Amino acid sequence: RAKHAGRGRAMYYETLMDDDRDERREMEEALRAAVARGEIDVVFQPIVGARSRTICGVEALARWSRGGTKPVPPDVFIPLAEATGIIDTLGPLVLKRACAAVRNWPGIDISINVSPAQFRNPYFPDQALGIIAEAGIAPSRVTLEITEGYFIQNPGRAKLVMDRLKAGGVRIALDDFGAGFSSIGYLIRFGFDRMKIDRSLTIAGEQSPKGGAMLQATVALAASFDMPVTAEGVETAEQAAFLHLCGCDQLQGYFFGKPMSERAISDLLAPPADVEAAAG
Ligand code: C2E
Ligand code: MG
Ligand code: MG
Ligand code: MG
Repeated sequence: RAKHAGRGRAMYYETLMDDDRDERREMEEALRAAVARGEIDVVFQPIVGARSRTICGVEALARWSRGGTKPVPPDVFIPLAEATGIIDTLGPLVLKRACAAVRNWPGIDISINVSPAQFRNPYFPDQALGIIAEAGIAPSRVTLEITEGYFIQNPGRAKLVMDRLKAGGVRIALDDFGAGFSSIGYLIRFGFDRMKIDRSLTIAGEQSPKGGAMLQATVALAASFDMPVTAEGVETAEQAAFLHLCGCDQLQGYFFGKPMSERAISDLLAPPADVEAAAG
């Protein structure tokens, strides 16, 4: 019976979604080819100290322009890469590029997003630590960002992978906190080095007194478990001030800088001599 139901469902999708499936397959092949040719860009978004307001780190974000011209959002091509195994090539590519870039930025830390699909790969810790060692940067400058999903699905394995990475010296941040289920007590057990609160929480924080209280309580809770907090999606001076007041030590968002090219970050960190002279 189950088999019959399964076949029925497959046929239903085939007839109704043929066009979608073709489009998806075409996109998959285009992405696979682009990754194989190294045609994935990495951009970097500044992360600033909440007090100093100077850049202390950057988050690496993948960019893909299909056919070299049509940008496809990461929220589209990352899930596709995860579902098709392409992430096993794309992930290391981004990590290599990001590590190579940060080598030229002394004193700046680098955050790189890691998919649950990568965490699932038994070779991932050795591979990631190998790439970082090869790049010649201190592992302590590298933070891998991961969302809660995999920790809820497979807590035992997730903890093992995480401990291997942490033993290698890299830091692990819990990304997008406040966007999902965020079963707080449960997540605390894993020993994340940092919490990144989702843009939705940053926004909620200034929308109502209750939102503000929620934000404050979240940051205080993280602090009581020795997790410093980065706020994401900071778009206004008011948000920045409130988040600092709540105890976030790092801020990230369009207010401080959009994701930008390696060259643009380099210029920001060490302005070319003529620009400095012109600025007086
Ligand atoms: P994320 O890791 O939470 O990254 C932050 C996202 O918020 C980025 O979107 C960034 O451009 C955006 N953002 C930053 N500040 C602001 C702001 O002030 N306002 C608004 N509206 N948005 C802001 P992006 O680059 O589109 O990436 C989306 C997601 O795709 C990322 O969310 C991450 O989960 C995933 N992703 C991106 N690159 C990679 C990658 O190399 N590997 C993996 N596994 N996932 C990636
Ligand atoms: Mg992230
Ligand atoms: Mg995030
Ligand atoms: Mg995200």
